[in-house]
Amino acid sequence: MRQVKKNYDFETFANSDSFLSIQLILIGLVLPLIYSDVYPVPLPENHRFPMRKYALLREQLMYEGVADENDFILAQPASRELILAAHTPEYWDKVCTLALSPQEERRLGFPQSPELVVRSRASVGGTWQASIFALKNGLAVTLAGGTHHAFADRGEGFCVFNDIGCTAKHLLATGKVNKVLVVDLDVHQGNGNAAIFADEPRVFTLSFHCKDNYPLKKERSSLDVEFPAFTRDNAYLTTLQDVLPPILTTFNPDLVYYIAGMDVMDGDRLGKFSLSLEGVKQRDKFVIQSVHRRNKPMVVVMGGGYPQNLNDLLRAYVEAYRFAASLYY
Ligand SMILES: [Zn+2]
Repeated sequence: MRQVKKNYDFETFANSDSFLSIQLILIGLVLPLIYSDVYPVPLPENHRFPMRKYALLREQLMYEGVADENDFILAQPASRELILAAHTPEYWDKVCTLALSPQEERRLGFPQSPELVVRSRASVGGTWQASIFALKNGLAVTLAGGTHHAFADRGEGFCVFNDIGCTAKHLLATGKVNKVLVVDLDVHQGNGNAAIFADEPRVFTLSFHCKDNYPLKKERSSLDVEFPAFTRDNAYLTTLQDVLPPILTTFNPDLVYYIAGMDVMDGDRLGKFSLSLEGVKQRDKFVIQSVHRRNKPMVVVMGGGYPQNLNDLLRAYVEAYRFAASLYY
């Protein structure tokens, strides 16, 4: 792995707070890893969202020698301007003033709180920082993000703001990219992404998902690939190998977002697929290798993952990041 180049263009940041984080990368980072798990969110006891997976992943990356403490970059809360690239001002105001109705809160799946606002903004900010790093240096990872169920005017499925919706729209609006590909391999359809980019031909949304799972009402992505429940490695991987390369070649994006959702794994409490740990590792390597082979900048975001036991999820992410870093750096 080589060090990240030290010729960073500071003007590319919409959020001036990010300047501090960039200074860290100048120290000599290998793989930009952006994290936001320092922004805690109070959840009721026994809430099914495994909030601790973020901190555990950070620890696991250090334990396995993929990164040390200084390699992590703190995600900065996204500015209002960045959030409004994809969301309505009314929704932004409602979230920030904790004015979601009980029904909206239920659909979101999280109780609203000031802490949730901070964390949700940081999640978008982290994806933004990762995007800028990737455009400059080829690859960045954020240990959050992939909040693909958030729509312009509402949140659902544990997604308050749509990180890729905000960042891709802002990158397009400011002329930093002309075409963006979203490879969404979370087990649930990226309905928020599909809706946010529905009228945006410069963004190609690819969603591999379980047709018998949430969301019940699917939106239309650029390409939806649906599988039945209990889909296993072979069917999934052969389809991926058929579908992804031609999209990369013909659409020819300037930036690829990879939502490496781990809820495809067998035993996930909210997924319905039966992919093995080995199958998921192959999936990630195939995506990363395909993108790298075409010299495309890539941002890897986490997406979902709700296993009984977090070990396999952590293993899969560590392996993917290690492999990605070995190619790009
Ligand atoms: Zn999911």
